[in-house]
Amino acid sequence: MNAAEPPHVHNPENCRRYLGSLGDYIEGTLGTELCQELESHMAVCENCRVVVNTLARTITLYRQMPAPELPNAVKERLFAVLDLKPFFHNGASAEEQQAE
Ligand SMILES: [Zn+2]
Repeated sequence: MNAAEPPHVHNPENCRRYLGSLGDYIEGTLGTELCQELESHMAVCENCRVVVNTLARTITLYRQMPAPELPNAVKERLFAVLDLKPFFHNGASAEEQQAE
């Protein structure tokens, strides 16, 4: 009668080992084996999940920095929601110029 999963698995040694690979994991440059190891660890370790989430978000933000503007997809959705479409004859050409 073994408990399938301990309620709280906390192994700082493991975490420390994985933390060094989290960056690679998010970048997608981590080896498949390590990737799977990390994922199964994250399944039981909220700590690492949070770190990955935070790191991923940070990296995403960082990547968006050179272009702080909203991505086109978001823009289009926003325009649609705001019903601004009529003002943009063609969404294909992103003309920022506004006459008058
Ligand atoms: Zn962990």
